Amino acid sequence: MATGGAGYIGSLATSAGAAHILCTGGAGYIGSHTCVKLVEAGFKVSIMDNLLNSNKRVMERLKELTGKDIPLFEVDMCVADDVNKLFAEQKFDGVIHFAGLKAVGESVAKPIWYYENNITGTINILKAMASSGTNCIVFSSSATVYKPCEDPLDEEKPTGCSNPYGWTKYMIEQILIDAQKADASLGVSILRYFNPVGAHSSGRIGEAPSGYPNNLMPFIQQVAVGRREALSVFGTDYSTKDGSGVRDYIHVEDLAEGHVAALKRILELKTGTIIHNLGSGNGVSVLEMVKAFEESSGKPIPIKLADRRPGDLAVVVANAGKANKELNWETKRSLKDMTDSVWKWVSSHPFGYDDPPPEESLRKESGFSQTLRRGSVEVGFSQTLRKESGFS
Ligand code: NAD
Ligand code: UDP
Repeated sequence: MATGGAGYIGSLATSAGAAHILCTGGAGYIGSHTCVKLVEAGFKVSIMDNLLNSNKRVMERLKELTGKDIPLFEVDMCVADDVNKLFAEQKFDGVIHFAGLKAVGESVAKPIWYYENNITGTINILKAMASSGTNCIVFSSSATVYKPCEDPLDEEKPTGCSNPYGWTKYMIEQILIDAQKADASLGVSILRYFNPVGAHSSGRIGEAPSGYPNNLMPFIQQVAVGRREALSVFGTDYSTKDGSGVRDYIHVEDLAEGHVAALKRILELKTGTIIHNLGSGNGVSVLEMVKAFEESSGKPIPIKLADRRPGDLAVVVANAGKANKELNWETKRSLKDMTDSVWKWVSSHPFGYDDPPPEESLRKESGFSQTLRRGSVEVGFSQTLRKESGFS
């Protein structure tokens, strides 16, 4: 692992002390875990977030985990004047740019909002960086920028997207590449994440989606704590080990350490654009994930066999060799570490950072999950499916 210690950071420190990193969207899921790793690695950290998809209570947890009062600037990155003011008042040595809207389905329904928020916000940040002399940016991109391909994806694979969310990532990558070409003093690191899951090993911070969970792990975790009745397994006839979809899940703490490694690299290089996949290189099926979660939680996860989800591929797995070599980084946490940590988090925080809602809302929530039954085959518990499909 390349996170190093505070001593190493000394070489990256400015005359004013440890390098000061602004995490846009740092109150969110991946950003909060990365803030912990940044502080552990000796960086000074600030957060800029409008709390659109996060909860201020995460700040108390960050203090508990790091022992530091990380400043939170409640700024909307789309309000240029506020972004400029922040960059003029603070001296940042680098930015890790997590802030953005991220739900694929919502981006199809509200494309203009997605383009405006993600792209306008990024342009405002780049302009504020240029006028305040901040020369380094690490960007949260995604495996979604690759054209459909079921071979392990290396960074040379063709890019192209199928939904507005993906296009915002694709376009922001291009904006960053062009901005760097025009300004040699800028260093850009683009990180293409595969499927981040897991929670901090303390169980004190984790993923807390607001609204209906669209991704696999948040859905499983809500089934495990009784907020949803059953997981719909989208597709059981793929040519994969057990018929269900295969993805490259990466523990959020490994991902966070990947940011520290990429940040160090681009601070050292001082110029240029580097692009890296952050994944484990291992494919895990939906049914394997369910089984691992059942083992971690000791609870059965009821499942329903459902049709394939439109647009899904059978397999999406990273070739993470470039990050392993160039960033001296690799994943070190197992599937069990992922599901154990999620269970530790969700069993103590069934509603994330929120207090449990009143009875009435809970009834509505479970009513919503009932409607999901339509169009999918009800199958009891996952053990039943495993028996039927020969999966063990
Ligand atoms: P998240 O929603 O938990 O965090 C994003 C944060 O950005 C939130 O705290 C939100 O309040 C903030 N934000 C959104 N718009 C903002 C604005 N206009 N101004 C200021 N703050 C704003 O999401 P996450 O899972 O932590 O993802 C972080 C980044 O990683 C996102 O850019 C996402 O697209 C990208 N990413 C996530 C995944 C994933 O599976 N979680 C995969 C690939 C890429
Ligand atoms: N998936 C599923 N049920 C769900 C959510 C997801 O079976 O409720 C499957 C999905 O079809 C895919 C895998 O889980 O095979 C990962 O999906 P997710 O949405 O988490 O990530 P992505 O598809 O963006 O890689």
